[in-house]
Amino acid sequence: MTTAPVQLTRSTCPYCGVGCGVIIESRGAQIIGVRGDPDHPANFGRLCTKGSTLHLTATETLARQTRLLQPMRRPQRGHPPQPIDWDSALDEVAQRLGEIVDRHGPDAVGFYISGQLLTEDYYVFNKLAKGLIGTNNIDTNSRLCMSSAVAGYKLTLGADAPPACYEDIDHAEVIFIVGANPAWAHPILFRRLEDAKRANPRLRLIVADPRRTETAELADLYLPLQPGTDVALFHGMLHVLIWEQLIDPGYIAAHTEGFDALRQRVLDFPPARAAQLCGIDAAALVQAARWFGQSHATLSLYCQGLNQSHSGTAKNAALINLHLATGHIGRPGAGPFSLTGQPNAMGGREVGGMANLLSAHRDLANPEHRAEVARLWGVAEVPATPGTTAVEMFGAAARGEIKALWIACTNPAQSMPDQAAVRRAMQRCEFVVVQEAFATTATGAYADMLLPASTWGEKEGTVTNSERRISRVRAAIPAPGQARPDWRIVVDVARRLEARWPQRLNGRHTLFPYDGPEAIWNEHRESTRGRDLDITGLSYALLEHAPQQWPCPEGGGPQARLYMDGRFATANGRARFADVDFVPVAEPRDARYPFSLITGRLRDHWHGMSRTGLLGRLFGHVSEPAVQLHPQDMARLGLQDGDLVHLTSRRGSIVLPAQGSEQVGPCQAFMAMHWGEECLSGASSSGERLAGVNALTLPTFCPTAKQPELKHAAVKVLKA
Ligand code: SF4
Repeated sequence: MTTAPVQLTRSTCPYCGVGCGVIIESRGAQIIGVRGDPDHPANFGRLCTKGSTLHLTATETLARQTRLLQPMRRPQRGHPPQPIDWDSALDEVAQRLGEIVDRHGPDAVGFYISGQLLTEDYYVFNKLAKGLIGTNNIDTNSRLCMSSAVAGYKLTLGADAPPACYEDIDHAEVIFIVGANPAWAHPILFRRLEDAKRANPRLRLIVADPRRTETAELADLYLPLQPGTDVALFHGMLHVLIWEQLIDPGYIAAHTEGFDALRQRVLDFPPARAAQLCGIDAAALVQAARWFGQSHATLSLYCQGLNQSHSGTAKNAALINLHLATGHIGRPGAGPFSLTGQPNAMGGREVGGMANLLSAHRDLANPEHRAEVARLWGVAEVPATPGTTAVEMFGAAARGEIKALWIACTNPAQSMPDQAAVRRAMQRCEFVVVQEAFATTATGAYADMLLPASTWGEKEGTVTNSERRISRVRAAIPAPGQARPDWRIVVDVARRLEARWPQRLNGRHTLFPYDGPEAIWNEHRESTRGRDLDITGLSYALLEHAPQQWPCPEGGGPQARLYMDGRFATANGRARFADVDFVPVAEPRDARYPFSLITGRLRDHWHGMSRTGLLGRLFGHVSEPAVQLHPQDMARLGLQDGDLVHLTSRRGSIVLPAQGSEQVGPCQAFMAMHWGEECLSGASSSGERLAGVNALTLPTFCPTAKQPELKHAAVKVLKA
């Protein structure tokens, strides 16, 4: 037994966007404990079940059983992968990518990365794709998470910047939670909400959600709206606010534009009609509007219920309209506040690591922005051709247009909608690289080359949480086996490609001169100078001391809230009301598929369970997959709890137990998103083996945000 002293390392939880600070206890090369960091302003020492069990997912035994410990090369599709040394693996990745680019052009390569990568990892991936290879085909699973929130903010407020902060929960008089279940998905933030309610009995909570979730149980007013009807709800509430003179004409006149067109539109949403569209009581809708408008400070919290929709941008913008119309923004306790799903979806956007973005919130479509980034990077140009977004990227691969995919830190074979199509797309590719910490993901089966990456507790960098707060992520132990940091793997391939294409270096020795994550972060920091997210006043040294919110320009301090002076990030400084239409769900239920499938999270699991699925104790809360149905539907179908049913959509079918639950309404079916290959298999309509809920979901996406409608699909339920 080792007698090495216990080391304490401050870091950040790698799960949800609350971004809790943790203190890792390690001895030698072993993580032996984890506790909440009492000084971290996201959690003040608290951790939820996921965060507090992190150390148990990082034991040496589990690493030996589940981690990808060395590079592996698959000699032939369908055959087991064989070990290969790092240099040979990196040489082959660079050579295969280089050949494909030289033969078919840069857009024959696509990068599908992750909101769980650190900001520094994201930065170098983006620079490799857009700066060196010359393709904008780089997107991330954040497209499935926050892109509608981004598009909603940009459309109305002018920038991808949540204006509020966690402290606003303590100052709000009304909190409107819509399309979110923070009790399970953001548990530590929910604890704060419970505290605020205890401390302030006058605080009113409105929850709008098709399911009567644990969050809804705390509500003073619960609106059980039908899936996808959020815009009708918000327009109906705005109609009431206007009619009852609860808007703020002074704020509208001084700080906004476009109200008249929206006013005309919401005339068509009187409470009776809006409530009928939403399937709720009109009096409840009126009550929600009155509470929203009459309070001194209203805060809205929202997440995937608004984002994962083919009208996600409209839903986000219509909610922000309510805040602009009432002036509930830019003040303590007031504002629209999107809760980030993943730990670093925001950091990825900061460095522009998506198909339509560039560094520091620059837009790819803007020629000046492209020129600025080309100058920063020292490359001749950043290509203008729009990149493919997540669903589009796998579509392009399925058509043979993208011939090589490099997938990092994400599991699209499980998490993308219409799983059969995504799996076929990977099969069609000439070359698939999977860079992963775990050997157990469904996507690994499609890899020609598997590159082992380090993960939580083993790597250094930064992440940004829901309230724009940048925290350090630190290594407490060395990575097991031959696993390497993600940024290092990218840079090593990039340097090999530079040797192949020296003319692309514009006379420089290398575009990737980094000796560690801090050097990458410093380059990113410089790219933010003068931008809305300016962090030139920050440094790794400062972040070591305490996590900080952006913006934080040189010579200025961090800003807890945005737009307090009423000036927005638009060209003329005025916020824009968004005159958006109400559009029903993409696939309404019908006689053949009469149930609305709603997807969501469980309390104790994360994404595809690569990490949380390792611990038996995290199955104590929910032990097996099930589809929840309303008791009336259970009776009508002759089902008892535990009876197996075929849950079938137009794309695939799975078999799982049914469970009666009053949380869902009649003709609704709820299923958690986490279950994968080991727990829940099924088949596509053409007989391919599939796993989990995304055997059923559809790839239709928001035309602006390109975020797919993962939250809803039409299904049928038949006793097995
Ligand atoms: Fe981790 Fe989120 Fe739980 Fe905090 S609330 S401990 S960030 S999973």
